[in-house]
Amino acid sequence: MENVWQEAQANLKKVLTGQTYTTWIDPLKFLEATSDTIVLEAPSAFVQQWVTEKYLSMVKEAISAVTAKSYQVEFRIAEPKPEPSPQPKEEEVEAAPPKAKEKKAEYVPNLNPKYTFESFVCGASNQFAYAASQAVANKPATNYNPLFIYGGVGLGKTHLVHAIGNQILKKNPKAKICYYSSEKFMNEMINSLRYKKMDEFRNKFRKVDLLLIDDIQFMAGKEATQEEFFHTFNALYDSHKQIVITSDKFPKDIPGLEERLRSRFEWGLIADIQPPDIETKVAILKKKSDMHSVNLPDDVALFLAAGATNNIRELEGMLIRLEAFASLTGNEINLGMAREVMKDIIVEKTKEITVEMIQKQVAEHFRIKLSELKSDKRVKTLVVPRQIAIYICRELTKSSYPEIGEKFGGKDHSTIIHSVKKIEKQLAADSEFRGTVEEIKKKLFT
Ligand code: ADP
Ligand code: MG
Repeated sequence: MENVWQEAQANLKKVLTGQTYTTWIDPLKFLEATSDTIVLEAPSAFVQQWVTEKYLSMVKEAISAVTAKSYQVEFRIAEPKPEPSPQPKEEEVEAAPPKAKEKKAEYVPNLNPKYTFESFVCGASNQFAYAASQAVANKPATNYNPLFIYGGVGLGKTHLVHAIGNQILKKNPKAKICYYSSEKFMNEMINSLRYKKMDEFRNKFRKVDLLLIDDIQFMAGKEATQEEFFHTFNALYDSHKQIVITSDKFPKDIPGLEERLRSRFEWGLIADIQPPDIETKVAILKKKSDMHSVNLPDDVALFLAAGATNNIRELEGMLIRLEAFASLTGNEINLGMAREVMKDIIVEKTKEITVEMIQKQVAEHFRIKLSELKSDKRVKTLVVPRQIAIYICRELTKSSYPEIGEKFGGKDHSTIIHSVKKIEKQLAADSEFRGTVEEIKKKLFT
């Protein structure tokens, strides 16, 4: 059966463009077959999903053309190849355990170097926490001790505490900085208790210059952990060391947090992070795409921002998916592609864009009447807006050429195609014109 698949692939190669074939079909490997099913291996879940959505019926047809019989096609995802040198990931960065022999390596700071102030976008929603973090990084243990940052999931708390650590480390590479999630603090404490190494555990924390404790809410209800942390806190505070704590809630709202800890958290400064507004989300997307050296047009950034939840991690996930798609297909990112790639993710959140909405927006933008936009008048001030409107309809709605023609006063199919081609050409040649079209599309999403 393996040669059946090879033949089917050869047939697909004839009908698909080179790029499509190499990206999606060529990497599919034959694994096994039963009397009615062929199992193929896909290199990633992404490829599998894409092929299933787009090319499954073609693949099935190609197989039945070879076998004269219809087969089901199933996919299995290839085992990931081990990465040569895995990079530690955000919170998973583990503290290098202090090794008795290597004295120097006792405080390897377990900070994620990517989480800096420079890579953090400051907007209205996080401005207070950002400013407070910078103040602490510039003058630790002076004004705001402890600094308590609270806010919902994925709003940048972990990023900010690492940024504080990285900034202090930049100025003083010998600073002893310790980043711990409260869960890890608890697990290590339990282990230390079990192996009778509590002294070691205590000493380790009490010698640091900066203690960053992430997600303190996990200590809720864990009395022994809170007790231990209380002593650690006091020891550091008394010796004028900076403490930074994050939580998903305001101290008073963490159930099962002991009063004495709660009141200490309120000694310093409490700063909140609010969900980002749409401008901040756009700015974050732009910054991240710049960092990846990817061109993300404004209208696409706005489309993603408008469709995303407030969780910035999810927003980043969308961007990565889109970038992966663009790079796998060898195309530039554009709005049509973004809508296609995000269609299962953004589904309900994106409002359906209709021909009528586009006509209205374009007419408003160029300050012309709707009736003029749809008319046959051949003056330039009307022709260009009309062609732009037609182009956007083709890009953003599911309407066919005849359907669009119908809604533009009964124009024929070739006029519509001509308009689309005309605009495509001008978009490719003229960046100011591109800006105008993006501007109109942006308004459609807000
Ligand atoms: P939290 O700890 O609040 O759950 P994180 O700090 O882990 O959130 O942030 C989630 C992701 O979003 C991280 O990759 C982080 O870099 C990114 N992020 C959050 N806020 C911002 C921001 N203002 N600017 C840039 N990236 C951000
Ligand atoms: Mg976090």
